[in-house]
Amino acid sequence: MKNSAVTRSDSLIDHLVQLSGLRKRDDLLSGITRALLETISAPKVEVFGLVHDENRQFWLPLTQALPNEKVRFVTDPMRGDPEMMAPVESDPDRHLCLNRMEVVVTAPTASQPAYVTRFPMTVAEGATLWGVAEISSPQPLTPADWQDATRLVTMYGNILDMLDYSERDALTGLWNRKPFDDLFYKTLKPTEPQEADQPPDGVEHRSPNTPSNFWLAMVDIDHFKQVNDTYGHLIGDEVLILVARLLKTSFRAYDRVYRFGGEEFLVVLRSADHDAAVAAVERFRANMAAYEFPQAGHITASVGVTEIVSGDSPAAACERADQAVYYAKHHGRNQVCSEADLVRRGLLKVDLKVGDVELF
Ligand code: GH3
Ligand code: MG
Ligand code: MG
Repeated sequence: MKNSAVTRSDSLIDHLVQLSGLRKRDDLLSGITRALLETISAPKVEVFGLVHDENRQFWLPLTQALPNEKVRFVTDPMRGDPEMMAPVESDPDRHLCLNRMEVVVTAPTASQPAYVTRFPMTVAEGATLWGVAEISSPQPLTPADWQDATRLVTMYGNILDMLDYSERDALTGLWNRKPFDDLFYKTLKPTEPQEADQPPDGVEHRSPNTPSNFWLAMVDIDHFKQVNDTYGHLIGDEVLILVARLLKTSFRAYDRVYRFGGEEFLVVLRSADHDAAVAAVERFRANMAAYEFPQAGHITASVGVTEIVSGDSPAAACERADQAVYYAKHHGRNQVCSEADLVRRGLLKVDLKVGDVELF
């Protein structure tokens, strides 16, 4: 009896130590899923994220762990199809768990032959902020199980907070350059089949879902120096915060917004084709032009859009978007310019060697 108690607390400590050494969101998510499964000795653990899209909320199945199997990533948040996701109301117990921020247990039923114990948690997967860890078990979990699961989930949330601290811009709360580069290399590169024994972390990687095109928009505020010079740096800062908010509300939950530098922002958006991507960016530009900033009044932005292509690098894609911004700046500002359009119209030249563009 004593031995098994020691083994269990050893296992918990081992998992906590392992989790505390992880610095990537994916590794952390698979780590917490596996830690819950092994600490509780449960037959199944699943993690669901809550994603927002305009006024709707959906459940996004994130990970699943089964004994003696690799943790499986169920949906790639950048590629998941919102039409296929379950609306938040479809699972009232999971919903209740998040609404009350408390553990919700249900007894076995005909359709669900296990006890399901749901723990609220943070899951910073892209736009997802909140999630639920669901532990299935043939018997109700013990008070020790509850305590250990709560410790693990809390530890995981604390590590995510630390990651956020290093990956978010302090002024606007947007992601900074580092997660942009990470996303580019990890999610946006062409999906290749993973070898069975890859990678070494024991994580089975996501299979490619629906093929999808990604676009990069670079947003540069027009005459921002004048805003600072006229109204002062503090008002300038406030404008940056409000532009960040306009960006977040103008794009969808699956689109990612980053602060790239001083008054420059990047948006990675998913769109089926060129015209839909440009239209989405144009909606933001129009929203911003119509917005009345406190004190500073109307402020506009120039935006360059480019498709993220197979084998792209963050630097090459940013360079192409930047050339389109440059064109917009020199042709009246307050407009969205598509790099592909400019090339097609002979206004930018593509340098095939580096995939860059040159301005005529
Ligand atoms: P353009 O229309 O050509 O983009 O002109 P601009 O004035 O927006 O561009 P410029 O690059 O000349 O100036 C950018 C300004 O952004 C200068 C810099 O002081 C200001 N800036 C950069 N970061 C911050 C910040 O965090 N807060 C504030 N208030 N200003 C910032
Ligand atoms: Mg600039
Ligand atoms: Mg500017």
